[in-house]
Amino acid sequence: MSALIDIQDISKIYETGSFTVHALKNVSLKIKEGEFVSLVGPSGSGKSTLLHVLGFLDRPDSGDYHFAGSSTAKLSEGRLAAIRSGMIGFIFQSFHLLKRTTAKDNVLLPMVYSGLGTNSQKALKCLDLVGLTDRAKHKSNELSGGQCQRVAIARALINDPLVILADEPTGNLDAVSRQEVMKTLRELNEKGMTVIIVTHDDEICAQTKRIIRMKDGEIIADENREERDSSKAVAPVAHDTRLPKARFGFTPSEIAEQFKVAFKSIWNHKMRSALTVLGIFIGVGSIISLMTISEGFMKNLLSGAGEESAKKIWVGPKRSYLKSSKKLTYADVAAIKSCPLAEKVVPIIHGNAKISAGKKHVDASVQSMEGWTPEDRKKNKYLLDNRKIIGRFFTKEEENAMAKVVVINQALSKKLFGDKNPVNTDIRVKNIKFNVIGLVEDAQAEQLFGGRPTLYMPLQTAAKRVFGRSKLSFIEVSAASPEYTIEARKQIIMALRKIHPSRDDEDYFDVKTFEVQVRQFKSLMQQISLMVYGIAGISLLVGGIGIMNIMLVSVTERTREIGLRKALGAKKSDILGQFLIEAVVLCLLGGLLGIGFGVGTAWIAYIFIKVQPALGIGTVSFAFGFSSIIGISFGFWPAMRAASLDPIEALRYE
Ligand code: ADP
Ligand code: MG
Repeated sequence: MSALIDIQDISKIYETGSFTVHALKNVSLKIKEGEFVSLVGPSGSGKSTLLHVLGFLDRPDSGDYHFAGSSTAKLSEGRLAAIRSGMIGFIFQSFHLLKRTTAKDNVLLPMVYSGLGTNSQKALKCLDLVGLTDRAKHKSNELSGGQCQRVAIARALINDPLVILADEPTGNLDAVSRQEVMKTLRELNEKGMTVIIVTHDDEICAQTKRIIRMKDGEIIADENREERDSSKAVAPVAHDTRLPKARFGFTPSEIAEQFKVAFKSIWNHKMRSALTVLGIFIGVGSIISLMTISEGFMKNLLSGAGEESAKKIWVGPKRSYLKSSKKLTYADVAAIKSCPLAEKVVPIIHGNAKISAGKKHVDASVQSMEGWTPEDRKKNKYLLDNRKIIGRFFTKEEENAMAKVVVINQALSKKLFGDKNPVNTDIRVKNIKFNVIGLVEDAQAEQLFGGRPTLYMPLQTAAKRVFGRSKLSFIEVSAASPEYTIEARKQIIMALRKIHPSRDDEDYFDVKTFEVQVRQFKSLMQQISLMVYGIAGISLLVGGIGIMNIMLVSVTERTREIGLRKALGAKKSDILGQFLIEAVVLCLLGGLLGIGFGVGTAWIAYIFIKVQPALGIGTVSFAFGFSSIIGISFGFWPAMRAASLDPIEALRYE
């Protein structure tokens, strides 16, 4: 039978600054399955170094290591982790149990990284083997030293290793516990387990079957004390001795462990975590509040826009031509009326004028309208976007007669009459006396800022009596039905181009449909968004750096835990995943609170701007997606640092 452990000329040299230490000098050693070996020697003789090499926690600088019949010189880090996980049971002098974790969960830890999923039944069996069945639910701080070390032995057994490597397992224990632990190890060996323990205690090594003495990195004696009694020898347990492949991905039980660790770590540092996510909270919150408000606006705009608005087309001069003499005329109205798809064509004059009532004077916007026909009145909402009216609107007859009647909006009424009902009072527009026949609610968008004082009068009155000109401000056209608007718009453009040949290939008029208006609203929102996103971006950047900072702290604090996990078989990606998950969970918490904050802000804004915020599924997933991205990108470096830690150095970290 070939040896389980076969090392040839192993050397290990430590170079620390100015001096070099030959921790191992050409050590050769064979250990067979079922042996019970002690490595003895004074402090600094290289015992631990040798044990680490044997347990794949460290690589030798030179020499050969055959384990279970296979050469191990060229194995990747991932395969070494898999060997540590499945074939080696390591026991440390200072136990290295996870704090505030039950005995059972501590025992289960190597199983998390075995790639096979955890099995509580087996953990209980292992605890039974070390005589701790009744302590399974006790946390590590509720156990004595001897019990802790026996939990560690149970942990070493959980993945059915080929060998148990124990580095001064009794070093931290009193005499009674020492005997307990040695008894446990002896019993394991009697059942066929290969056990190698490092010690400098003669009493301990006297209980083993083979004593290897070391000094200054060399083996100076190898004493086999086993009486060759083949009848007593236990037949070695049949093992699969092929070296395991590297493991990829995470098992569900590992992901569960990672989330558990993440939540525990955040929960144990509540204040710190809360301060850390502040930046994310504000950043996500401001984006969410903007998004919900703008989404609410959009919903409002679209729901207020019935078929009537969807049918509308507005023809007006281009902004750049506003000041020029080019204005729309009645000839244009006639041209548009000739378009087959333009069903209703309403010329509109628009201007500013001084309005007076008694001693009060207000500058207001004056807008002409066509008078309502009896049919319009039935629809009521035709020209004023469904706004409520007190009194009445002017009629077609009044328009034709250039009647001096006006409808005013709330904003103007408030300025001129306060809370009094203005209907049937007289006001003066450019010193011409008019009768107020109706009061109309402010337009929805205007309610934002209290509305601009506005006054509506018949078209002919505005054209001939007030502005004294026939140039139109714009023309409102309705297509036969919403689906014709695009085609109707084309017809209008063609008709107008016949009258006004385009100059430099540019029309001086603008023809907009409702769709265009929506698009314009969106582009306005985008401009506002840009600003908010800027602020949110800075906040998120600061938040991200905060995350990175706290994750670095967390990695430093948990260096020994990381070392332990790696020693027990966690591979690089397991540690990377664990810290990334912690960063992401932290960011998601910030994002979740941010959504609450953003929606809350939007509802507060609702009190002032009367636009009900709308929280879409898209907005929520955006917030979560975004938070995750921040968590991953800012958590990556700290997680990478954790993942690249050397297990032995990490375990030694103070
Ligand atoms: P033992 O376990 O027998 O007490 P070690 O194997 O821990 O001894 O150490 C052997 C020698 O190697 C000692 O001289 C020690 O100082 C040195 N050594 C061990 N680890 C390191 C290290 N990480 N860096 C530098 N020197 C080390
Ligand atoms: Mg040591």
